[in-house]
Amino acid sequence: MQCYVCAKAGKQTEAVGICIVCGMGLCMEHALREDVDIWEGGYPFPQKKARKQLPRILCEECRDALA
Ligand SMILES: [Zn+2]
Ligand SMILES: [Zn+2]
Repeated sequence: MQCYVCAKAGKQTEAVGICIVCGMGLCMEHALREDVDIWEGGYPFPQKKARKQLPRILCEECRDALA
């Protein structure tokens, strides 16, 4: 998979991660790792085990949308 943000800019960069919200591929430069609280409602993680904030990969658009 290739980085969607780079592809939009006409570059071809191998994706290293995927935005967990929208699912677009992201390269090192565009993958934003955010430690966010457990979301309420149906996120498929065992909530009992998630005592800490979990690192998640987000794209810039989704990070802005969630901020
Ligand atoms: Zn990129
Ligand atoms: Zn996204």
